[in-house]
Amino acid sequence: MTLTTWAGNYAYRAPQVASPRTVDELQEVVAGARHVRALGTRHCFNDLADGPGTLVSLEGLAPDVVLDEAARTVTVTGGTRYGTLARHLHAAGWAVHNLASLPHISVAGAVATATHGSGDASRNLSSAVAALDLVGPGGELRHVARGDADFPGAVVALGALGVAARVTLDVEPTFLVAQEVHVDLPWSAALDRFDELTASADSVSLFTDWTGDAVQQVWRKTRVADGAHALRADLLGARPADGPLHPLPGIDPVSCTQQLGVPGPWHERLPHFRLEFTPSNGDELQSEYLVARAHAVAALQAVRDMSAQVAPVLQVSEVRTVAADDLWLSTAYGDARVGLHFTWKPLQPQVEAVLPALEEALRPFDARPHWGKLFADVDRDLARLYPRWDDFRALVARTDPDGVFRNDFVDRHVLRG
Ligand SMILES: Cc1cc2nc3c(=O)[nH]c(=O)nc-3n(C[C@H](O)[C@H](O)[C@H](O)COP(=O)(O)OP(=O)(O)OC[C@H]3O[C@@H](n4cnc5c(N)ncnc54)[C@H](O)[C@@H]3O)c2cc1C
Repeated sequence: MTLTTWAGNYAYRAPQVASPRTVDELQEVVAGARHVRALGTRHCFNDLADGPGTLVSLEGLAPDVVLDEAARTVTVTGGTRYGTLARHLHAAGWAVHNLASLPHISVAGAVATATHGSGDASRNLSSAVAALDLVGPGGELRHVARGDADFPGAVVALGALGVAARVTLDVEPTFLVAQEVHVDLPWSAALDRFDELTASADSVSLFTDWTGDAVQQVWRKTRVADGAHALRADLLGARPADGPLHPLPGIDPVSCTQQLGVPGPWHERLPHFRLEFTPSNGDELQSEYLVARAHAVAALQAVRDMSAQVAPVLQVSEVRTVAADDLWLSTAYGDARVGLHFTWKPLQPQVEAVLPALEEALRPFDARPHWGKLFADVDRDLARLYPRWDDFRALVARTDPDGVFRNDFVDRHVLRG
């Protein structure tokens, strides 16, 4: 059977897939291979995880959850899904600071691409990494921890520095979240009062198809200290939804996390979708551009101005906010960002025809494409967007001089030129 991305839009070309069951076996696989790439849960939409030799999946390793309450960290094997980790953590009274829209994604795979949720004060998931145990090109195990000189280059590393056998994440005491959805937010209010809107909850997402005068849905997630949550009747002219909603109009919300302001554990509210609904191969494609927060309103307007091109191939877009971090290849490196996400129809040629124009429209706003989603990068000029670009390239050259972990994607977008 052909191994593909979750969306089925890309078939991996690597001739071999290895599934070690222990870290020792993983080290042996890497030591014995000329070319290796780590494979997570295959939720990328491009060839980022692929390679010319062996793909190594960590799904056969037990999660091996080690909670260190004194240090406020948890360590898990890299292939562990966030949803699995979250259940362990919550049962023990702990939490991670945020989650992506889907809990099925592996920790190491998410961290490698700067995967994020939403929240003005919330940095991406990679920012919670306190340490990594990386299997290097010779199969050796290397511990890199916050405070080490190269650490900020080693976290969002696109799989180019080795295989993260174990990942250590910061944790905090478990907390409750209430999720509310409002509908029909006037675009004029969204643009004029954007900062007030995104500050109105701990995590705010706008769902839109860019057409018309109103943003279709606003999802707001609020930490609830004492278990009680006051529902907001009006949100800058948007009204509360009168029942649970799926972000896509007309779709049954049964797979979505609880809404209507009912407080519940963080891991059952922060993702938009429930862990217990195993998503089938997705009939969708995705792209996302992280623009500098200072340009957010202009960027939103620029996409609205080209809605006639975008809307025909779009299912829905999501707008999220991400706080700044210091990880060299993070899409939020150095400044706060606003993510303009596009869930496309599964029409790859038509989507790829729109991307260059979309990237041209977003170019004035320093738009950094999400590493794991579809983007064009026509001019191969991502370097201008990342102040520590050359440091990352030097780190790869030093760590992996024989190119064991290199692949076409990393060559094309990062190392070439
Ligand atoms: C339905 C859906 C919803 C999504 N929601 C969000 C979202 O809310 N926010 C967001 O930012 N993104 C989101 N994404 C994108 C997704 O989070 C990223 O593409 C993420 O990188 C996928 O992780 P993965 O485990 O599937 O990794 P893969 O796609 O398998 O691999 C991704 C990269 O990680 C590397 N990697 C994997 N495992 C390891 C390891 N053990 N050591 C070193 N490198 C490793 C791979 O080599 C590759 O470079 C979504 C994707 C889908 C399909």
